[in-house]
Amino acid sequence: MPVDHALAVSLLQDLVRIPSVNPDLVPGAPGEADVAAYIADALRSWGLTVDVVEAAAGRPNVVATLKGSGGGRTLLFNGHMDTVGVEGMAEPYSGELRDGRVYGRGAIDMKGSLAATMAATKALIDDGAQLHGDVVFTYVADEEYASLGTERVVADIASGRLPRPEAAVNTEPTGLRVGLGHKGFTWVEVTTEGKAAHGSRPDLGVDAIVKMGKVLVEVDRWQARLEAGDRHPLLGPGSVHASLIDGGREMSSYPDRCTLKLERRTVPPETADTVTAEVGGMLDRLAAADPTFAASSTVTFVRNPWQADLGSEIVSTTTVAIATVTDAPAETMTQTGWLDSALLGDAEIPTVICGPRGDGLHAVDESVEAASLGICAEIYEQIIRQFCG
Ligand SMILES: [Zn+2]
Repeated sequence: MPVDHALAVSLLQDLVRIPSVNPDLVPGAPGEADVAAYIADALRSWGLTVDVVEAAAGRPNVVATLKGSGGGRTLLFNGHMDTVGVEGMAEPYSGELRDGRVYGRGAIDMKGSLAATMAATKALIDDGAQLHGDVVFTYVADEEYASLGTERVVADIASGRLPRPEAAVNTEPTGLRVGLGHKGFTWVEVTTEGKAAHGSRPDLGVDAIVKMGKVLVEVDRWQARLEAGDRHPLLGPGSVHASLIDGGREMSSYPDRCTLKLERRTVPPETADTVTAEVGGMLDRLAAADPTFAASSTVTFVRNPWQADLGSEIVSTTTVAIATVTDAPAETMTQTGWLDSALLGDAEIPTVICGPRGDGLHAVDESVEAASLGICAEIYEQIIRQFCG
């Protein structure tokens, strides 16, 4: 049985009509529970083994397994069920099909590919496909905030609660291209120490805010160096910017403290350690030039950059599947923003990203190209047959 393209579209319409805004982004939002129940019910009714596992209280992951006959390899599909908020959208949950597109929050980010994995699964089942390996689908919570869902998946793989897959497909949208990487980020907090004193006593005070001005000048130079320096062949240069700044107590006092929060966007092989060394070098230079300069820094959060192993079988299998289904050479792409694929990569699971075509991620006019859903499902079906057959 070929993939049922109309099923892929109607599944997506159903998924869009079930709100799943991340409650950590929008207080009081419903989260993933209802959409998880819908997916779990459908897959269970088609004969898959389905577990609903809480990544946190009220934040379920759906883990569904299409069992093979044994002796094959395990392939993981991973996609998130949560969406960002809907402010400013006229009809965020319409799921309307108009002019060849399905509209609504999550249509492309990323309920479209969830529908495509389901349509691919249904086609395999209806066809009575004889797979040796298992296909494990993890529909996860919380990608748009703290990635609790995929962190739970990775922890369960590490503990043996879930089988270690030989490869993974992260189904974030790629426009039916082969997704090969994305940047990471490291958050750093820099604090300059001054000396509090009455505003009339420059002989006693040290101004922590003015000292931070020196740091900001250095951040500007740092960004210029990154822009002019080595470029990652796929992801380009890393970058740095100031995000938040805080300091001072009242008008007539020298501020004793100023805190700056920086974001350093990273590309392989940059890590939290290399960023720590960059910040340390910057602060050491400033201290060497100014005996009253005192500052410290700490890394507050890290998400690693990720690049696919270009020689991995999952990359070549996906490339061939796209070319076969679309009857055109597969194109590749990378993203600037961070995705859950890095967590799979950090767990040393060969990973690729592949998903449908659409527009308006996190915007008011989100939509997916309806025809790309069935095509995407056919690509997934091909990947599964090749990898697990
Ligand atoms: Zn997404």
